[in-house]
Order: sequence, then C-alpha cells, then structure tokens
Amino acid sequence: GRADRRVRRLGRRWERPSREGGASVTEEAEERLDRYAELLRDSPINLVSRGARASVRERHIVESRAVVEHLNPRPDSSWLDLGTGGGLPGIVLAIERPDVEVVLADARAKKVREVERFCAVLGVANAAVRCGRAEQLARDPELRGRFDGVLVRALGTLPVVAELARGFVGPGGEIVAVKGPGVDAELEAGRSAADMLGLDIESVEEVADAATVVRLVRFRAVGAPPATTPRADGVPQRHPLA
Ligand code: SAM
Repeated sequence: GRADRRVRRLGRRWERPSREGGASVTEEAEERLDRYAELLRDSPINLVSRGARASVRERHIVESRAVVEHLNPRPDSSWLDLGTGGGLPGIVLAIERPDVEVVLADARAKKVREVERFCAVLGVANAAVRCGRAEQLARDPELRGRFDGVLVRALGTLPVVAELARGFVGPGGEIVAVKGPGVDAELEAGRSAADMLGLDIESVEEVADAATVVRLVRFRAVGAPPATTPRADGVPQRHPLA
C-alpha cells in the first residue's frame, strides 16, 4: 500500500550519504531497523499500542526515521531521548547516526531493561540507557546541562515536555518535541512555559516523508537551567507551567 511505497522510497533515499557530513546510512543500518521493528513488535512488554503492532515499521520506524533525517544533528553531538519507552525515536537515531551519542531514558525499569536488550541484540554501540524520572535524572550532575539536545516523543504537552527536558541542556542547547497537528492548540501555553524556563520556541517545522503528520517544535535554551527546574516528581504533569 501507500506506506509500503513510502518505506521503499525512503529506503532508496537513505542509501545516499546524508547532507551535512553525517554518516551515510548503510545496508547494515537498514537491516538493523528491520530487526528493531521485529523486536518491538514481538516484545512481551507492550511497548507500542496493540493496534499499531502490525504496522510498527510504517508508523513508528518510518516516522522516527523521517524525524531523525529532518533533525540532522551535528556530528559528535550528544542527545537524550527522554521518555524513550520502547526506544522511539532514540534507537532509530542511534542506528542512523553512529556518529551521535544517544542516551535513552525512561521512568519504567521494565521498559529500560527491554531497550537495553534491544541495543545489545542490534549491536548499537553509541547508545546508553538510564532509568529514572526526568525530575530526578535532571538533578544528576552527570546529566544536568550536559546534552546538545533532548528529543522527546509522546511525553506530554509542550509545557510538560519543556519543564522535564530543560534541566538537561545548557546555553544554546535544544529541546525538540515530536508532535502531531494538534500541537497548534498547545503553542500559547508552550510559549509562556518557555519564558519561565529560559527557552525560546525557535520554530515549528512540518516533517516531510513521515508516515504520519509530524510537527517538530524546537526550543532553544538561552541560559543555564533555572535552579528550581524541574519541580518535584509528578508536579510538572499535574500542574503544568503557564
Ligand atoms: N517515546 C516513546 C514513543 O514515542 O513510543 C514512548 C512514549 S510513552 C507514551 C511515554 C513514556 O514516557 C513512557 O515510557 C513513560 O514511562 C515515560 N515517562 C513518563 N513520564 C516520565 C518522566 N517524568 N520521566 C521519565 N519518563 C517518563
């Protein structure tokens, strides 16, 4: 069907080297992505919704891959995938871009162990996993302010994403939220939360070639994270800023 054609078309495109000095995507990466789709689909843990299982490759892998291509992170940069769940989009980023360092974090130990297993099976060497809530991990001196960017998919509304991710980036760092068309309704709240957190919403970009409609919201950090950010466990979700 339509999605199949998209997969093939993307497959061809990805055989070319990427635009700006990134590693070229090899057949090895292609095979790893196929294998990852199988691992995700067959996992005993419910990592993607039941309805989506039959179409993991189309809905999750194709989307994440389009996001990664669009994002095109700098070579040697380090990225955190916060609330990675089954590894989306962080494992796809790590596979497509062996030159980028990726940390995959989630609050749920069961998911983190499964993601660790995926990385081992796939032979993904440039990814590490961390278990914990963002509210706690962002206080860890090894993680606070140390990433070039945080990539987030399906973690919450813009104010929630911005607060949970802010602690991990210093001046000039980026927070990139993978959202759908509904994000328009969150932009105003996202802007006022951003103001409180020392972030600018730099752009909202539509991602071409994704299997679904994807809008990337890019926040840019203007200084160090505020000392009080993020608030205590559960508060960012229960009482969003703005
Ligand atoms: N990013 C994945 C994806 O797109 O398929 C998973 C999305 S899932 C809806 C949200 C994930 O965020 C869950 O795995 C959950 O455990 C994790 N999560 C929620 N709140 C969190 C927090 N405060 N800190 C860390 N992880 C959190």
